[in-house]
Amino acid sequence: MSSIFSRIVRGEIPAATVYEDDLTLAFMDINPVARGHTLVICKEEYPDLFTLPAEALVAVARTTQHVALAIRTSLSPDGLNIVQNNGASAGQVIFHYHVHLIPRWENDGGPVRMGRHHESTPTDLQAVADQIRQQIAR
Ligand code: AMP
Repeated sequence: MSSIFSRIVRGEIPAATVYEDDLTLAFMDINPVARGHTLVICKEEYPDLFTLPAEALVAVARTTQHVALAIRTSLSPDGLNIVQNNGASAGQVIFHYHVHLIPRWENDGGPVRMGRHHESTPTDLQAVADQIRQQIAR
């Protein structure tokens, strides 16, 4: 049984991708808590931080910084939260290692609460993905 993120890696379901390399993939969260909410995943499926090989952890960390710099330049947020959940009790829903990048703006409603969502259509997600991807391509 493979995760929904493995299905994205294999191209079986669509995602608004902003970056890809041999080990990692970055795409827009389908239910963003803020505009530009991006996920970075390890392409190979490991459930969580505890099971992830160090090499994959480093690859995800490098992509996280790469995408974060592109988000900063393309969307000009005032800040950025990095969130990584491990276990259902910590709020993990997809058991395939991933990091959340959540741009933040002054007066945007306070600290991240994963229950708060930014209304987005697939077109909205594609538009913001284009903005970040174009920055990465520069
Ligand atoms: P977590 O609670 O850390 O496991 O986060 C899982 C995240 O995956 C949630 O923020 C979901 O909105 C997001 N998500 C679930 N399915 C998809 C999908 N098909 N494409 C993009 N993001 C997704």
